[in-house]
Amino acid sequence: MASNYDVVIVGGGIAGLSLAAALAGKCTVALVEAEQSLAFHTSSRSARQLIPSYGPPVVQELTVRTLELLAARDAQATEPILTRRGFMLVGDEERVQAEASGNMHRISHAEAMELCPALNPDSFTAAGLDNGSFGCNAPLLLEEHRQSAVAAGADIITGAKVHSAQRLGSGWQVGAGTEGFQSGVVVNAAGAWADELAVISGVEKLGLQPFRRTAAIVNVEKPLPPETPMVCAADDSFYFRPEGNQVLISPSEHVPSGPEDAKPHPGDVGKLIANLNNVTTLGIHSVERAWTGLRTEAADGIPVVGFDAEAPGFFWLAGQGGYGFQTSSAIAELAAALILGAVEAESPESRTVEQLAAARWSIRR
Ligand SMILES: Cc1cc2nc3c(=O)[nH]c(=O)nc-3n(C[C@H](O)[C@H](O)[C@H](O)COP(=O)(O)OP(=O)(O)OC[C@H]3O[C@@H](n4cnc5c(N)ncnc54)[C@H](O)[C@@H]3O)c2cc1C
Repeated sequence: MASNYDVVIVGGGIAGLSLAAALAGKCTVALVEAEQSLAFHTSSRSARQLIPSYGPPVVQELTVRTLELLAARDAQATEPILTRRGFMLVGDEERVQAEASGNMHRISHAEAMELCPALNPDSFTAAGLDNGSFGCNAPLLLEEHRQSAVAAGADIITGAKVHSAQRLGSGWQVGAGTEGFQSGVVVNAAGAWADELAVISGVEKLGLQPFRRTAAIVNVEKPLPPETPMVCAADDSFYFRPEGNQVLISPSEHVPSGPEDAKPHPGDVGKLIANLNNVTTLGIHSVERAWTGLRTEAADGIPVVGFDAEAPGFFWLAGQGGYGFQTSSAIAELAAALILGAVEAESPESRTVEQLAAARWSIRR
């Protein structure tokens, strides 16, 4: 017999887990994850940086709100989620200026060299700094969401891939692995598989596209001081940041992919190392480990959050692209408010992201 919940969340990455934590205790919630472990895909593969100047304006707003929520959490906790780490953009005048925003200010070449003496001074002419940027303890954040969801009564089921979802009366019947669920609301937090989940649910897909992004931890001759900001090329050819005595590097590639367990392509990390050994004095000599994740984007680059206009009770929580952590707490707050409103009114309605942004301010007042 199918178990009954107000909300079934499909996907156990940062999106699904943060929403489960926000909803649990306020309505009945099940989260189902295809893999045996939570956060197996993109959510365990990020660079763990929260950058208020990164992304379109609505993403920047959601990032600022997420930072507020995480700072409030840190003020009450012994182990912080956030660690101050600036974000510095280097490149030519035109590209750096194009990225300048309220959260990023221009700095001189000399200031940039002082912040990261490992840079080859001839490799850039202009720089910008976002001092409101933070490193994020992503594993701790994910685990806290899991714990608080479970403590408040949510059921988390792993190793259960959702293979069917149909409208049944005023709700949904969901088949996952060998189990069945009935719920008023289904949340699509399936990351790179979000469009695939829509199709098996009889919902029109949105054209969400996963893009590959590789990163690696490398060993270096000259470690970066811990206070070094994340350094990012304005032409998107690399970024790097300290990771203890090692360095995290990425070629910042943006290559379309199908939904899959992505792996680094042979040669990609080697090419990046050759480039970084040219533009820095890091002296990268070996790779500790390398990985690839999928950043899934809508055509306009803005996360898709809200009830589907055509499929009552089908809630999108997808397309977070490269911003899934930095927007997570704010998006969970908004999504929970919309879903709880619908659960209480029993009439799920469609919302645009602009309405979500507006809702954010009403939540804060
Ligand atoms: C190299 C790299 C660096 C990044 N750096 C940053 C960063 O510094 N800051 C930042 O904010 N973001 C960063 N990101 C982006 C961020 O990691 C993602 O936006 C975020 O992890 C997406 O989370 P998610 O929960 O939507 O997806 P996922 O973590 O992929 O979770 C989706 C889950 O849904 C499950 N699923 C799919 N289909 C089904 C089904 N049918 N049934 C059940 N379960 C299903 C999958 O198994 C998966 O576990 C980075 C990404 C990459 C790849």
